[in-house]
Amino acid sequence: MTISSILSSKGHDVFTISLPQTLLEVCSTLRKHRIGAIVIVDGKGKLAGILSERDIVRRIAEHGPDALQADASDCMTSNVTTCSPEDNIQTAMARMSEGRFRHIPVLEDDKLVGMISIGDLVKRRIADAEREAEDLKNYLYAS
Ligand code: AMP
Repeated sequence: MTISSILSSKGHDVFTISLPQTLLEVCSTLRKHRIGAIVIVDGKGKLAGILSERDIVRRIAEHGPDALQADASDCMTSNVTTCSPEDNIQTAMARMSEGRFRHIPVLEDDKLVGMISIGDLVKRRIADAEREAEDLKNYLYAS
């Protein structure tokens, strides 16, 4: 099973922002779209970073409420781990657990074509396991 099979049911929408943007504005975007991380793009629409709710919590813990006026560029992660639509689900999961993050943008020829969260991967793994169990049951009863 590949990442593209998840994207075909989930869709290819990627919510993005460009800089400058305060953390308070980022919070409002995360809330509006009900997401946990936002992708930051440069003037050409290319991936420039990722900022998750954890970055915001960490910043507030370190600097107090004034942190919300900081620019997103001060808190984002610039070295973003990505995957491609052809990668299989296990590969993406391994990258996320190695890097200890829950979001992975999907790139094709340097273009953003989707966003996968750990929730999307777990949901698919459970659906696959249920289907396999059902197939086995049908096989046993048919023989
Ligand atoms: P998350 O678990 O996604 O909330 O992110 C935890 C930390 O990893 C935060 O510092 C994020 O900026 C960072 N992060 C999230 N996704 C990625 C990614 N795909 N590549 C690199 N860092 C990431």
